[in-house]
Amino acid sequence: MTPDPCFVRVALPLPLDRTFTYSIPGGRVPASGTRVLVPFRKEQRIGWVVGPSDADGLANVRPVLSILDQEPSVPQELVALARWLSDYYLTSLGIALRAIVPAVLCDVSRHSLTRISDPPSGLRTREARLLEALDARGGSAGVRTLRRALAMGSIWPEIRSLEALGVVSHTLNPPKPPSVKIRKIVTMERWISSLQELEELFARAPRQREAYDRLAAMGGSAELSGLLGAHGFSRAVIGGLEEKGVARVESREMLRDPFAAEQAPPPVEMTPTEAQATAIRALISALDTGKPKPFLLRGVTGSGKTLVYIELLRAVLERGKSGIVLVPEIALTPQTVSRFRTHFGSQVAVLHSGLSEGERYDAWRQLKDGERRIAVGARSALFAPLSNLGAIVVDEEHDGSYKQGETPRYQGRDLAVVRAALSGAVCLLGSATPSLESWANAQSGKFELLTLPDRVGGASLPVIKVIDLREVKKAARSSDRTSATSEGGTVLSPQLFDAVTIRLERGEQTILLLNRRGYSSFVQCRDCGDVASCLRCSVSLTYHRTHRRLLCHHCRHEEPALTRCPRCGSTDLSLRGLGTEQVERVVAEAFPQARLARMDMDTTSGKWSHREILGRVERGEVDILLGTQMIAKGLDFPRVTLVGVVNADVGLHLPDFRASERTFQLLSQVAGRAGRGALGGEVLIQTSVPDHYAVKAAVAHDYEAFARRELQGRVDPLYPPNVRLINVIVSSPDQEIAAREAESAARWVEREAIEGPATVVVGPAPSPIERLHGRWRWHFLLRGKHARELGEVARRFVHGFRPRGKDVRIILDRDPTALM
Ligand code: ADP
Ligand code: ZN
Ligand code: ZN
Repeated sequence: MTPDPCFVRVALPLPLDRTFTYSIPGGRVPASGTRVLVPFRKEQRIGWVVGPSDADGLANVRPVLSILDQEPSVPQELVALARWLSDYYLTSLGIALRAIVPAVLCDVSRHSLTRISDPPSGLRTREARLLEALDARGGSAGVRTLRRALAMGSIWPEIRSLEALGVVSHTLNPPKPPSVKIRKIVTMERWISSLQELEELFARAPRQREAYDRLAAMGGSAELSGLLGAHGFSRAVIGGLEEKGVARVESREMLRDPFAAEQAPPPVEMTPTEAQATAIRALISALDTGKPKPFLLRGVTGSGKTLVYIELLRAVLERGKSGIVLVPEIALTPQTVSRFRTHFGSQVAVLHSGLSEGERYDAWRQLKDGERRIAVGARSALFAPLSNLGAIVVDEEHDGSYKQGETPRYQGRDLAVVRAALSGAVCLLGSATPSLESWANAQSGKFELLTLPDRVGGASLPVIKVIDLREVKKAARSSDRTSATSEGGTVLSPQLFDAVTIRLERGEQTILLLNRRGYSSFVQCRDCGDVASCLRCSVSLTYHRTHRRLLCHHCRHEEPALTRCPRCGSTDLSLRGLGTEQVERVVAEAFPQARLARMDMDTTSGKWSHREILGRVERGEVDILLGTQMIAKGLDFPRVTLVGVVNADVGLHLPDFRASERTFQLLSQVAGRAGRGALGGEVLIQTSVPDHYAVKAAVAHDYEAFARRELQGRVDPLYPPNVRLINVIVSSPDQEIAAREAESAARWVEREAIEGPATVVVGPAPSPIERLHGRWRWHFLLRGKHARELGEVARRFVHGFRPRGKDVRIILDRDPTALM
């Protein structure tokens, strides 16, 4: 006798804020977190069981097609985290669960079928046909293959009944790691940083010059096939570079995962300083109590925060527990990551974007099975399926990369706090420049504050000097001191020029920061003032000299650089707004003997190009490292004694409430790269607003002064952390519809969703970037004193409001990091 079917609620990864009821023949409800295959409309989808359902009053409940996991693929604790994520960020539980598990687990085509015993007599025709097809393939085949071969629609009902009979079983086949590929790679044999030499060398070979530039822009190595194919260089052009001894073509194993190949060097044992020891003691005693508060570790740059993380994790492992370390971006923090590998060796799984789907799934299983107990990775490592979690560390907790930019738009730092709380683990957020949210939490006592006030080993923080660009401009006319300027503005003031010269003479290293890539950020007609802007976005196009093209940094639209103004036909075009490409050219001209490396999004298109560039800096093969904010994160190079900020004002005047905070963090972080060794260090910041409080606080190394001033500045108008925000963005291809729907949505919220005075609607207004990817964008803010109430208002809005125009999209961004 077969037992009565039971009913389960299934979460599907669809933007529908509800679960669906299915029946399961056999009468046993699988644990929540178990994957099931279910029919949905005319398709089949993978979903997760999230609980029993009584199915009362439901007609036509459809049966689950297959139970895909023996035991739940999502541990209970992560199901709970997914619930929190979906509630708080107003997304469906299924979408939250999909964000948590490796992609492989959501891919039904990965399943295969194996014959395990002989069938009883009396199979139905369709079952018999399926079995025949399976046997014809040697008793094992992919479900998708079988389905295609049989061409009789869905075969899952037959799979289910054959499974129930014990005739077949099915398993998940993760994709095999791609086999090691041997490819022809062109690498730079000799970097030419003198412009004069470049021009002489390639005087009669412009294509070779272009190939050289391209190779340089790709960090000094590229696949031959790419240069020949996508970039259209002939083999003879590359051959020309080889003849000149500039480049070399070789066969190489493609570096898929440098962390797998690399041997970790033995750890250097360090004795914690007194401040470190105090912090470590507090953390370890929290580890041994039940429900610890989250910790904020504010330690100045070079104060040795990493050692505190390491000692905490050592204690975690000693207690038989597991740990997670979040870093902003693996590619940018190879030093930090390798220090964890050094200390914990094979206990560490490094989760990074270079892993193939299969490797990612392998790492996931190793963590789930307890084979490895420390997960190190970017934002999503937060979801490592570790049990018995002891601690979560969030390094550089202020970093913008912890916020996910697409649905579900979660803040990884906040989820780390939540996950730690759910499992009674210690949460440690570390930074030299904490986010104001975390700082406010430490002030109010919600977080416990730990402080490392000094650099280790008696090193002092570098002296920071400000150079007023307005003065530089004035003086330039009268002065005969050497500086380096360009059509886009001052690149190196005489002071910075001299400082770089001294470093080159002494054989020390310099870091130059300009947080804007490309050659010039806009092209303007001197006659009519017209600025070239993107067809699809309301932003100006950036000129990239290497490819002689104009690029939109938002939608990646590209067009050839103009030679005349499209509006008035004038050829008098000016290149305004300095970018890193231009700085590179100017610096190369100013210091022809210097070895220069540029690091920004354009030179790091290869997966591991960051590492290659940073490796060259580490080995002392680079004199000047120039780049965008990428070079400000966590680097520890003792021979860097000078940091120059070419223009601190980039980003300071953006219409966003975090513009000052970001500028302060960037300046403090990049300044922190100087003087980390015995040689000491100096920082020069060029700016037109030397009196701006963000600049002044960075110069004085005074985080607290900055935080005080900035928190006051967010009182009127109210901004986080003094209040909670949800940014609601309404977009449409039609300008009027976007405006109209934003207006009616905002009014709807006021009328139907808000119940008390603690939550208000601000706006609507056009978004600062009013047009993006061809869509017009309006936004309004939901601003509330209480997180829960604000969430309720938003939930009513999501459930109750339907826009009228077609192709109107509404995005809710809770705790936005930017309002652009
Ligand atoms: P932060 O992350 O706070 O900027 P790091 O953790 O990178 O600083 O440490 C800065 C440098 O100081 C590193 O080179 C590290 O090896 C060294 N260091 C840290 N703690 C100690 C210690 N107790 N004794 C000696 N060296 C230390
Ligand atoms: Zn013009
Ligand atoms: Zn665009």
